[in-house]
Amino acid sequence: MIQLWSLCVPVVIRLTLVAPLLAIALPGCTPQTERPNFIVILTDDQGYADTGRYGAIGFETPNLDRLADEGLRFTDFYVPATVCTPSRAALLTGSYPKRVGLHEAVLFPYSEHGLNLDETTIPELLKPLGYRTGMIGKWHLGHQAEFMPTRQGFDSFFGVPYSNDMDGHLYRGRGFQSPPLPLYENEELVESGPDQAFLTKRYTEAAVQFIKNNVDDPFFLYLAHNMPHLPLHASAGFAGTSERGLYGDVIQEIDWSVGEILAALEEAGLDQGTLIVFASDNGPVLRPDAGSAGNLRGGKATTWEGGMRVPGIVHWPSRIPKGSVSGEVATTMDLLPTLVSLAGGEMPQGLDIDGHDISPLLFQPGDATSPYDALYYYSRDGLPEAIREGAWKLHVAKSRGWNQSDGEFPISLFNLEADPGETQNVADDHLELVERLKEKLVQFDAALTREARPVGQLGGSR
Ligand code: MG
Repeated sequence: MIQLWSLCVPVVIRLTLVAPLLAIALPGCTPQTERPNFIVILTDDQGYADTGRYGAIGFETPNLDRLADEGLRFTDFYVPATVCTPSRAALLTGSYPKRVGLHEAVLFPYSEHGLNLDETTIPELLKPLGYRTGMIGKWHLGHQAEFMPTRQGFDSFFGVPYSNDMDGHLYRGRGFQSPPLPLYENEELVESGPDQAFLTKRYTEAAVQFIKNNVDDPFFLYLAHNMPHLPLHASAGFAGTSERGLYGDVIQEIDWSVGEILAALEEAGLDQGTLIVFASDNGPVLRPDAGSAGNLRGGKATTWEGGMRVPGIVHWPSRIPKGSVSGEVATTMDLLPTLVSLAGGEMPQGLDIDGHDISPLLFQPGDATSPYDALYYYSRDGLPEAIREGAWKLHVAKSRGWNQSDGEFPISLFNLEADPGETQNVADDHLELVERLKEKLVQFDAALTREARPVGQLGGSR
């Protein structure tokens, strides 16, 4: 990043004339803090309560705690989907999954579609700004060659194209037998059915190597762990180490991975100039041997808070006030415009997305307010089920997470500030608000449906 010093020089000279002390102390003008590196760490099905600062029970996450203590922890951080594929599409495109045509459940090894190559991804916007772009881990936006990460803006890829449970699985309804889990290096299949106990470790080693290889250039690394998606696997050094069984062991290994990345950044002198985001792709599978959403209702595949509110930690020691906690609504859709802004770029004219530049929330967490007028919750199958406006959340339907034997799902209104667990339906006390929010959800979905762009079809992409 030597060239970045030159960007600072005129600023320093100007400030030196009027405020010598300020110029000397100017924290932004070091090679480390101009144009940060970005590392987005995404875990799979990790629950809201499954890191230390969010209330983890039965395992320790000292490195994730450190990220939160040195950075910013969002209490109301969301993914705009309840399952893997749409969540990842949203993160990389800054859009509700329906806008990019990937709102219906997940891709399978027999699927013949993927993220349309015409979509604009984070790495595609960062590359022209001089960033090196790498993806490690679980992709899940199309496993056919034409949809792979290296066709979607990433210089390099090491990982698997979909979920770890799609490993040699027979899809009876389709009569389709999937191959052993394929492990790729760029577009080359390098291993079939890798021992999943070592996935987290191997991804971590690849991430550390990526950092070492890119000390002199700004970089964007998207590290998407397969874990803790079922079936769970931890390597020998972690298996049996937590009081929470294998799930706790797996999270402790992910936490170790975060520590390795922090150490690699420090060793490379990049720790102050790297922004790290840590989040999960959706809520936990609600089983005793899996994750926890804490006091939030519901889990994966549901539009209750537990399905879509996830841990959200941002770490950038030189810019974010230490130990910040924000209760403002933010989402993974915000990463695209925020990263582009922090990299000094501009959003392309005419690119229609749903995320916002949340830099103010990162740098003035006590003062800035959420850019969201409302947040929309789509079901696993892409149907609009709920809307949040301020503290109010209205549910109009519930395809999952509702026992149909209890009768038809009633329109339900909750005040998330007073009742984050969504236990007290107060719809009857706020009839006008219910009607207004209902209409707002209908209108939003109608507009999004109108504006939605096509999913990529095999052989149909450029
Ligand atoms: Mg997931």
